[in-house]
Amino acid sequence: MKMQKNIFTEIDKYRDEIILFQSELTKRVALGPDNGGTGEHEKADYIVKRFEEMNPDILHEVRSPDSRAQDGYRPNIIAGWGKDESKPVVWVLSHMDIVPPGDLSLWESAPYKVRVDGDRIIGRGVEDNQHGIVSSTLAVKAVLESGLKYNSMGLIMVADEETGSRYGLEYLVKNNKDLFKPDDLIIVPDWGAPDGSLIEVAEKSMLWLKFIVKGKQCHASTPERGNNTLFGVARLIIELEKLKGAYNFSDELFSPPYSTFEPTKIEANVPNVNTIPGRDVFYLDCRVLPVYKTDEILKYVRKAADRIEGELNLEITIETVNREDASEATPVNAPVVAALKRAIKKVKGVEASTKGIGGGTVASFFRKAGFNAAVWSTCLDVAHQPNEYCRIPDIIDDIKVFASLFLDDTI
Ligand SMILES: [Zn+2]
Repeated sequence: MKMQKNIFTEIDKYRDEIILFQSELTKRVALGPDNGGTGEHEKADYIVKRFEEMNPDILHEVRSPDSRAQDGYRPNIIAGWGKDESKPVVWVLSHMDIVPPGDLSLWESAPYKVRVDGDRIIGRGVEDNQHGIVSSTLAVKAVLESGLKYNSMGLIMVADEETGSRYGLEYLVKNNKDLFKPDDLIIVPDWGAPDGSLIEVAEKSMLWLKFIVKGKQCHASTPERGNNTLFGVARLIIELEKLKGAYNFSDELFSPPYSTFEPTKIEANVPNVNTIPGRDVFYLDCRVLPVYKTDEILKYVRKAADRIEGELNLEITIETVNREDASEATPVNAPVVAALKRAIKKVKGVEASTKGIGGGTVASFFRKAGFNAAVWSTCLDVAHQPNEYCRIPDIIDDIKVFASLFLDDTI
């Protein structure tokens, strides 16, 4: 116990190291081709160099082919320390890619040059997801330097989280499934609460639908010569609101506890007031509790569209723009959840609770492959925003939480 106290005292001295690490990562811009970049190579090379300094027992790069990226591939890094085959590995997975800075006029300083303001580090990527990269890497370093006996520790740094994970975790899990054992503890520090009290274990299915309503355009003074698609849109939106009643199951694990069905974007139709539109396009964003099958929702929606088509003599096409079916949830009593709760309690003094969320997370690729993964970090809601920042004390806490998990001898 005294030894554990010493390692925490050492971690408390990491401020300068955190700032330096964040600066080096931030200037190595890791944008995927879908975001106008060439991939994560420079950042990956830097991380590999850091890992090499820590003498890992395993260190390899999994290259997922992507002809649009530098050298035709996207890098994914795996490192491991300690190799006791009989015991579970504690894995922490972070992602290297970032999103573009967006409107530069909204930034108070250059996005790729870290600025420090008191306890805040400001720059693109410092929170999402360099917070995870830095806290997990420095936790391994602290544990190694402590000389204490540790669990098998694994760090994974993936590409392509921001644009679908096809070249990142999805590829890695598909091609390296034997890397993981069912009883391994997998933590993804890419979501959380500002006080570190939330552990994400489940997600809703995500379904984005595009509705194209076709009628007949004409002059507004002679509506009988056309067929106004806006009436179809209005009727359809009223019908779609009934999805809430038809799929009204509530599960308190989730926030909000029910499925959501929200009409969102509507495309511009006619440019002038005196024309009746003959084509209208709008979108529906659905976040559906895992008890419901996405196909059921699609059937319900199609039926509603069929009714309105018949009644108003319109043609309604429905396209699925995005679909991510929910994976099996990580049980709230899974070992990874229990161990995380213990570590969070010890470091931060808070009783963490489990949550399901509305958006898909990268953890679902583990869950779909049959592994329990928990998403946790001390997280401010600043990802993807201008002037993205992280708090140094939060990173220090998270280093201590990961170090506690690496040292937890009940695992
Ligand atoms: Zn992220």
